[in-house]
Amino acid sequence: MITVLRIGHRPFRDKRITTHVALVARAFGASSIYIDTRDDELENTVKKVVDNFGGSFEVKTGIEWKSFMKKFHGTKVNLTMYGEPIEKRIDEIKSGDDILVLVGAEKVPIDAYLIADYNISVTNQPHSEVAALAIFLDRYFDGKELEKSYEGKINVVPMNHGKLVKYIPDEDQCLMILKSENADDLIIRHVETVY
Ligand code: SAM
Repeated sequence: MITVLRIGHRPFRDKRITTHVALVARAFGASSIYIDTRDDELENTVKKVVDNFGGSFEVKTGIEWKSFMKKFHGTKVNLTMYGEPIEKRIDEIKSGDDILVLVGAEKVPIDAYLIADYNISVTNQPHSEVAALAIFLDRYFDGKELEKSYEGKINVVPMNHGKLVKYIPDEDQCLMILKSENADDLIIRHVETVY
């Protein structure tokens, strides 16, 4: 199981990017995200995505990150441009069961580097916590996370042109909805009692 720890979150500045960190964590196979600063709005946004799109991803804000990191019982990884290359260490990291992956927002305190078992870089160039986390998870799961499927209220039906979703508002209804940009969405099929 992979837990993501996001530190340095500033609600007024980082809401969008921290939301992206959380959505990438969920979509790419992590089980939970813990965020240091309390942010109810962000928590609700992520919970709504989980409620609509399925899965059991957990989100919690207002975490005292240092004691949380110290107490974590598995392998602790800090993603940082200053770390060792991911390609050198990923096989070792994979051998552990539970992994904590820390990503920062602003400057990450040196304590995080010292508490971590691994300081891992995704290139030694500065870029983004969203990209670093996505690449880490993809390497960790060997791309298998791309095949994972969820069953939620909203289920995308992949297509080349257009936007189609299977909407299951409750256990008695299933609507196929063709989404449109300007006009109202079009219900193309309405199936009562799907189960
Ligand atoms: N300058 C900050 C520092 O010294 O800690 C980092 C700011 S950076 C915008 C935010 C986060 O993105 C970092 O804490 C790290 O988790 C991630 N990050 C950025 N570039 C990275 C890289 N090349 N490899 C791994 N993680 C990276």
